[in-house]
Amino acid sequence: MVNLKRMLPDELTGVLAAQGEPAYRARQLFAWIHGRGARGFDEMTSLPRSLRERLAEIADLGLLTPVSRQEDPRDGTVKFLLRLNDDAGNTVETVRMTYSYGYSACVSSQVGCHIGCRFCASSIGGLIRNLTAAEMIEQLILLNRDLAVRDPQARIARVVIMGMGEPMENLTEVLRFLRLAHEPEGCGIGWRHMTVSTSGLVPGIEALAAEDLPITLAVSLHAPNDEVRNRLMPINRRYPLGQLMPACRRYAEATGRRLTFEYVLIGGVNDLPEHARELARLLRGMLCHVNLIPLNPVAGRGLEPSPPQAMAAFQRILREGGVAATLRRQLGTAIDAACGQLRRRLLEAPVP
Ligand code: SF4
Repeated sequence: MVNLKRMLPDELTGVLAAQGEPAYRARQLFAWIHGRGARGFDEMTSLPRSLRERLAEIADLGLLTPVSRQEDPRDGTVKFLLRLNDDAGNTVETVRMTYSYGYSACVSSQVGCHIGCRFCASSIGGLIRNLTAAEMIEQLILLNRDLAVRDPQARIARVVIMGMGEPMENLTEVLRFLRLAHEPEGCGIGWRHMTVSTSGLVPGIEALAAEDLPITLAVSLHAPNDEVRNRLMPINRRYPLGQLMPACRRYAEATGRRLTFEYVLIGGVNDLPEHARELARLLRGMLCHVNLIPLNPVAGRGLEPSPPQAMAAFQRILREGGVAATLRRQLGTAIDAACGQLRRRLLEAPVP
């Protein structure tokens, strides 16, 4: 069976040409799959019935199955746990967030993760496998389809690859996903509304810069020096700040895009005034923005959120040091919105 979901319009043209169909049918098919989120060929009523029947015999739509849907009534955050179409029945999480400027999707790029950041539930259990571009775009399509039930005119306008996994370890499929998401007849996400995150894999940052796409890079920094970062993120021993920061500066220069640095504030670990001053010195003069994030505690990790006064003081010191910083409001706290928590709960649930 041919997986149609991973194909760009030009590739679909080839599949349909082999069926003796004209090129414009490929754009129609792409729009049905990506723009309207069709879950069966029978829904594609603008295609001839005979073509739909032939496609059903040779191709599949790469569907994922929702296992659960949670919605936070206070801020509208929606989180799906999705079962992949593989023999192991693996699951991934995907989240839709509501902001004043519209809807944003947070997409997973791997099943599990082996990077091992101490504050993150996704790494518990290690890496199982990379997701395909089809599995990533299906997350976005499902979130859009779910949104349309409430508001048929509404569309997700931004996408961040910041769910489970390290995107730079799966960059080929991530790039295909971004190209699929950008297609105007599909999800239609502008390049400037896409963000790829990384825990700091320097070769991946260099490779993404070479693509010459105006995509935002979000680097999980979480520490102002190697000593604290080594404790929180083992990846820092491979790519310490002395390598990471020059790569970030080169990315900003090559793309002209302002970088985002993610910084989870952890009580007594990385949230002291001297940490804020050190961070301001590290980032001074760089085209960047710091996203301060309250910790969503993960059971068994022994890390506590930073008190509100310490978070406010941290932000003030950064701003006084000339670094743009915002304190992210915590979305989805009434559901298991911290990266990896919902899947973790499912894995720990007793087998019926
Ligand atoms: S924060 Fe990201 S890179 Fe780190 S363990 Fe979690 S999923 Fe992996």
